[in-house]
Amino acid sequence: MRDIRYLSDIEQVSNLPEQTRRQLARVTEAYRFRANDYYLSLIDWDNPDDPIRRIIVPDVSELSSVGDLDASNERSNYVAPGCQHKYPHTALLICVETCASYCRYCFRKRLFMENQKETTRNLEEGLEYIRGNKAISNVLLTGGDPLTLSTERLEEIIRELRSMDHVGVIRIGSKTPAFNPYRIIDDPELPAMLSRYSTREKRIYVITHFDVVEELTNVACLGLDILMKAGVVLTNQTPIIRGANDTPEALVKLMGKLSYVGVPPYYFFQCRPTAGNRPYAVPMAEAYETLEEAKRRVSGLAKRARYVMSHALGKIEIVGMSRDFFFLKFHRARYQEDEGRFMMFYRNDEAYWLDDLIPADGQPHPVHERRGENLTPRVDAVAQ
Ligand code: SF4
Repeated sequence: MRDIRYLSDIEQVSNLPEQTRRQLARVTEAYRFRANDYYLSLIDWDNPDDPIRRIIVPDVSELSSVGDLDASNERSNYVAPGCQHKYPHTALLICVETCASYCRYCFRKRLFMENQKETTRNLEEGLEYIRGNKAISNVLLTGGDPLTLSTERLEEIIRELRSMDHVGVIRIGSKTPAFNPYRIIDDPELPAMLSRYSTREKRIYVITHFDVVEELTNVACLGLDILMKAGVVLTNQTPIIRGANDTPEALVKLMGKLSYVGVPPYYFFQCRPTAGNRPYAVPMAEAYETLEEAKRRVSGLAKRARYVMSHALGKIEIVGMSRDFFFLKFHRARYQEDEGRFMMFYRNDEAYWLDDLIPADGQPHPVHERRGENLTPRVDAVAQ
């Protein structure tokens, strides 16, 4: 396997001037830095606006960006250590607490902090929970990035899930195809293992995380090709990130190339208001317009993705926007009675999140309506 060098100290990034490194070191004390030499080699260091640099190199304004470390209140979704269950048919297994590098805008950066107790090496209880809950047909392996696990460990988890008849879909959420495609290219055991479990009747999905077309290098496309030839179904999700993919041109290039290589876009996310994330967030109105402009310029497969926010109350689609209003709809809901609920809010061009909006349809605000309801952490289920 190729020797990919990982850097966890910003001082090791020699392309940055010394003074900049010193400034950024303060940021990385709050929010960890991790990169590797492959991903850093994609940066054009002469371009201060390089999109890959934006994704991976800290920004001093992260420090003045307030927010919750767990903006979607995921801690309230644990039913067993490492296992979240928010929607009836879907369970999440938080398999690992590292990624092949760290996105600056990460919504789970709390997992990379010392003393976090959300991930566990022992997923037995979570797997038993899934085995016993026949409504769960979908399991998402996430973290962190499951493809940073050894192939052997990943197989142990997948094998268990495949022994459960009611689990039809196994999804692996991963940015490794972008951060370090050599993980796929240099380990023939990985596609061999995936092909054993991605069967004619039940496929394995890898949900990739390409933010910008510059990540879709020849090496990355080779990694994707290996996964596809192993029988894995690929689809992509990305947030809209200020300075990386917040223009129609950037999105057109990304969506187009993803569709050419066979990885159609699945979701575009509103950047979560996680602590440290504000410099990377784009207001909803601007993100919506940018995405709509991009969609006008690409074909059907490239633009079939939905634009959503992953809120504590559910996955909410930003369906439309007029001069005066936003139109939102629950795509997935935490509470059954919200399922499919359509909502109208006054347009607010400074809004970043559902909580910033005022209802315009006479209905109560869904956040106020639920305030105080069962949204506190189930600490009993968090790994000790
Ligand atoms: S790949 Fe996902 S979990 Fe990992 S750092 Fe990026 S956003 Fe966070």
